[in-house]
Amino acid sequence: MDATEQYEKWKAQFPLCFERTGSCMGFGVQHSSGWNPIIERLLTKIEAHLAAKYAAGFRDPDYGFQIDQIKEKFGTLRFYVCGADDQIFQWIVEAERETANTCEACGAPGSLHCRVGGYWLYTRCPQCATENMEPYKAEDHDF
Ligand SMILES: [Zn+2]
Repeated sequence: MDATEQYEKWKAQFPLCFERTGSCMGFGVQHSSGWNPIIERLLTKIEAHLAAKYAAGFRDPDYGFQIDQIKEKFGTLRFYVCGADDQIFQWIVEAERETANTCEACGAPGSLHCRVGGYWLYTRCPQCATENMEPYKAEDHDF
């Protein structure tokens, strides 16, 4: 399944989460599939939370929950939203932290890697780290 198909699947599966989306979601999801289980657990919680809130009458017609972008940046997940409450933000932070220890390529336990001689960061398990990636050590870099 490519990133566009993945995005369409999630839109069908989590209609309240994707009721409003920012223009960046036109690019689909911008990360590799190893993090999909983490994102699906997050979307499942948000979907149920929104459904309960809306059922209780907490629904602003002009300012609803919106997903702006789901992507990888500096080796971890970035899940950008508008209109989220504190509970949703807490779940997002937990999911983003989880991706720092999860291989973006396959979902196995992973750690931050750096492209040799470069500035790209990746979270990878030992099997998925290619020969031009090395474990990231903060003391070797000024970023
Ligand atoms: Zn891996």
